[in-house]
Amino acid sequence: MPVLVMKFGGTSVADLGRIRNAAEKVKREVERGFDVIVVVSAMSGKTNELVGWVEQTSPLFDAREYDAVVSSGENVTAGLMALMLQEMDVPARSWQGWQVPLRTTSAHSAARIEEIPRANIDQKFAEGMKVAVVAGFQGISPEGRITTLGRGGSDTTAVAFAAAFDAVRCDIYTDVDGVYTTDPRIESKARRLDRIAFEEMLELASLGAKVLQTRSVELAMRYKVKLRVLSSFEDTDENSGTLVCDEEDIVEQNVVSGVAYSRDEAKMTLISVADRPGIAAAIFGPLSRAGVNVDMIVQNISEEGRTDMTFSCPVNQVARAEDALTRAKTDGEINFHGLVADTDVAKVSVVGIGMRSHAGVAARMFEALAAEGINIKVIATSEIKISVLIDRKYMELAVQALHDAFGLDKAA
Ligand code: ADP
Ligand code: ASP
Ligand code: MG
Repeated sequence: MPVLVMKFGGTSVADLGRIRNAAEKVKREVERGFDVIVVVSAMSGKTNELVGWVEQTSPLFDAREYDAVVSSGENVTAGLMALMLQEMDVPARSWQGWQVPLRTTSAHSAARIEEIPRANIDQKFAEGMKVAVVAGFQGISPEGRITTLGRGGSDTTAVAFAAAFDAVRCDIYTDVDGVYTTDPRIESKARRLDRIAFEEMLELASLGAKVLQTRSVELAMRYKVKLRVLSSFEDTDENSGTLVCDEEDIVEQNVVSGVAYSRDEAKMTLISVADRPGIAAAIFGPLSRAGVNVDMIVQNISEEGRTDMTFSCPVNQVARAEDALTRAKTDGEINFHGLVADTDVAKVSVVGIGMRSHAGVAARMFEALAAEGINIKVIATSEIKISVLIDRKYMELAVQALHDAFGLDKAA
């Protein structure tokens, strides 16, 4: 039987009514002749609640126990989805990560999938099971402990299963009907894209567009998984939603395809560090070992052998970063006069493959922000994206201004 992977996100399984609605979609695909692997997220809000409990209990938590707690939301929805399907006379069974077993690295809270052996699930399919319901977001480490794949990780579970089972397609059912030029919740003029290139989706995801987890796009690209995003609340067919595909399969292309934002950023500045060979390594080594995801980095011009070093990281890692840097100072590895954290910043980015061959995108972006009186604090660029750090209170305004400036409400 051909295998189809269907993933349902948090809002799509938020209560029993929605789980029934999702189960009906699954049943329809079984009736069309597919063996289905369903990947479910936790009910919406559940993972946030679990993360909150961990942080309240232990600010610098042990990531193994974080995973033990936050993985639990998916166990509930996997079991409920299997029950709901059984009630509809569809032979279904649930699988937690360790039962598959979905093997991961031991990088707790951000583990990477290493292997998905097919034997257990294949055997059940051979015995007549039609649907394997898999708890997304979780796996098992070489040490035998539960791991999680990072926020939004159920997308990655889904794509990894699609690759492992040679699925005809991986359908990501969510609360919007596809990938848009920007988050439709922020810009009402955002336009749904019929297709988007892997590279662009990868950038948009890594720059904050949470509609797909970055790693899921990476895997789909590497293993040539046919990846689609579509609505769980509408009637859908083979042509619904947005197909993530190769660049060559897209005919019309704007210079900029999308605008992404990331709300919860922080900017940290080390004031007056010695400007000497090895200083960057001495600062960013401890940060990396402490698990801080440093993003943008700026080193100021130096005066009398000393300089300021600024970097950005997720706002919830500020305590971890301060702790790591203060310890490095105490241990004599680095010396600085002050450490300032600005926790009220956001990152806004424009992404487009067309930027490879078109000049002037940065200028147009900066002009649009200037026209709104928005100050840029840090800039970073790569081949197909430009990102700026700005005050968080201007984030929505910046997204809308850039969407307008690049004419994204209109097709190419
Ligand atoms: P799920 O719970 O189904 O995994 P997520 O909340 O993780 O859903 O992702 C879907 C959300 O992503 C949408 O509700 C939307 O607000 C947001 N989003 C951000 N950027 C985009 C974009 N470019 N296109 C579509 N949705 C986007
Ligand atoms: N429940 C997890 C989260 O909220 C994983 C997911 O939904 O993809 O991050
Ligand atoms: Mg998600």
